[in-house]
Parts: sequence; C-alpha cells; structure tokens
Amino acid sequence: MRLLEVSDLTVSFPTADGVVRAVRGVSFGVDQGETLGIVGESGSGKSVAAMTLLGLSRGAAVSGSVMFEGTELIGLPEPRLRAIRGARIAMVFQDPLSSLHPLYRVGWQIAETIRAHTDTSRRAAHARAADLLGMVGIPQPRRRVDDYPHEFSGGMRQRVMIAMALALDPKVVIADEPTTALDATVQAQILDLLMRLQRELGTALVIITHDLGVIAQMADEVQVMYAGRVVETAARRTAYYHAHHPYTLGLLASVPSTVGGGRLRPVPGQPPSPIRLPSGCPFHPRCAYQMGRCAVEEPELMSVAGGAGHRSACWLPPDVVGPGETARITRLLAAGRSGAAGGTGFGGRHGRSAA
Ligand code: SF4
Repeated sequence: MRLLEVSDLTVSFPTADGVVRAVRGVSFGVDQGETLGIVGESGSGKSVAAMTLLGLSRGAAVSGSVMFEGTELIGLPEPRLRAIRGARIAMVFQDPLSSLHPLYRVGWQIAETIRAHTDTSRRAAHARAADLLGMVGIPQPRRRVDDYPHEFSGGMRQRVMIAMALALDPKVVIADEPTTALDATVQAQILDLLMRLQRELGTALVIITHDLGVIAQMADEVQVMYAGRVVETAARRTAYYHAHHPYTLGLLASVPSTVGGGRLRPVPGQPPSPIRLPSGCPFHPRCAYQMGRCAVEEPELMSVAGGAGHRSACWLPPDVVGPGETARITRLLAAGRSGAAGGTGFGGRHGRSAA
C-alpha cells in the first residue's frame, strides 16, 4: 500500500442542468519522496479530484477509496479529516492573494495553522512562522513575518503559501497550479523551491497543472486527465518520448517552443461538457485517429508499449508508440488541423530538462 492511494474515485455534482460528472474512476498513488504530475486542460477533473481527497468537494456525490497511511478518507468524520487536512496532507492553491486573508499579518496566519493543530504557544508559533518564511527564501523573515499579504509580491505570496503548507511537516503536499498566476522567472523560482524542499524534507508531492513543461521538470510519474478520467499514465520519460494517447500527443504539440519560432498549435476543438459527455471515447470529436468503435465504446486504461506501467485509454494498437511513431502521430495531428510545420514544439523553458 502506498502512502496515498486513490482507487476508482468518482465525483459528481447534481445541478439544475443535469449531473456534472467531474471525476470518473480515477486511480493513482504516491509514496514518500515521489512526485506525481497530474496534467490536463481546465475542466478535466484534476483539481476536483485533489479537493475531494481533502473532503473539500462540498455537495458532491463521491465514491471510491482514498487511503492515506492506512486510513480511509472517504466518509471519514469531519473532525478526523480536519486533523489530517493541513497537517498530514497540505495544499498549495493557485492564487495566493485569494487564499491569504488580506486583513491579517502573514505570520499570524501561519501561526494560526500551527495552533489549529497543535498546542504550541502563540510566541513559539510566531517564531516557527518566521523560520518557515526563511526556509522558503523570504529575505529578512523576522521583519517580514509581521507584514500583510499586500506588502508581498505575487511570487513572495506563493512562498508564504508554501511555508504555510509545510508548517506541520506534512507527508503529502498537493500543489494545484502553483505557478499559474506568476510570470515565467518567478515560476521557475517557485518550482525550484518546491523541488528543493521536497528533496530536503522527503515529502510526497502531487503537482496539478495544465503545463507539461512543469511536469517535465518535476514529476516522476505522469497522469494525463481528460473529461474526468485518466487517459494515459506513465513514467515521465515514457510520457514525453513514447506517448500513446492522441490527447497526450496534442498536449505535447501545444507546448510553446522558444526555438525555431512557428505558430502555437493548440489541441483542436473544446473539452466536452461534463454534463453531456460524448458517447464512446470522450476525445473522439477532437481526435485525428478516431475509428468506427471510438464513438461507440469507451476504452479503459490498457497496457501499451514504451515502458513498465505505461497505460493508455485508446483503441490504437498498443505498440503504436516510440519516438518515430510519436513524431509521426504528432505530424499527422498538426497536419490535420493547421498545417503548421515543425516538431512537437516541446522544448520550451522546462523542456530540455525532460531528457
Ligand atoms: Fe482517438 Fe479513438 Fe484513441 Fe479515442 S480511442 S483517442 S478517438 S483513437
């Protein structure tokens, strides 16, 4: 059993327009010191899955299993869940400005997190808050600990959020789009910080993003989500160099490149409504490879070539992988939509470190 193991997680929300099927049978796991990257477009269900782990999907119908250190979190009474949330499993949210209370000093907010879970004195919690700010690279932490959130830059606020997440030495940190609101230079600094802290503290890290460049830099394992399901799962190198699922290939092709110029090549079409999912494979209306059965039967994750544990939910033959095949499919996908020339486009700011 892994440190955190999610099995067949399903999350849906009843609405006036119908049932939103946000997460459909998702499974993944992570161990101490590992990084799992979950990638997909907005609405693919990745954030809802993470929120559900922490019991934050209010009003949702949830089924499946979330085991953490041998304890089942689904259905756990709120007081017991609250003892785990923030302390054993912590979350770094996308937008630190809306996550931090604007009227309280950052040190007070970190100290409250500590005091909510332990009987630490106010003075000791405040000192610990300053230490944490120093640990995440905020200069002059003993002075800055008494500043308000608006007195920090966006990158420094995200460092404060990371400090808060680490305040109680969690076993698992879930970072949900931790760099989306930041400019490219600050993004790189925050990612470096997360990796350094993970190395030093041995935390398990689940990083949720739409940015394959972030995953290339950080993840050991990659899960690609589409329409509430995992459609491809693999070790990082396999996901990048031997991708099988046409959606993964489309994501790879859409990463902006800083070399060679060329046009941006987004995945054609729009993600489906989670209320009215297409029949069969939910990607088929956007897929250059669709065949007869694709619109009728939804594929399960199946083992494919390219590496141990490489699985894809696609009816393409399992051996349609490998650098040559990946390049061929990518070229076909590109030709099928815009005719834009060039390679996969993967090779941007973080791309080179995938090798
Ligand atoms: Fe494309 Fe068919 Fe594979 Fe879906 S199952 S990704 S439609 S080839």
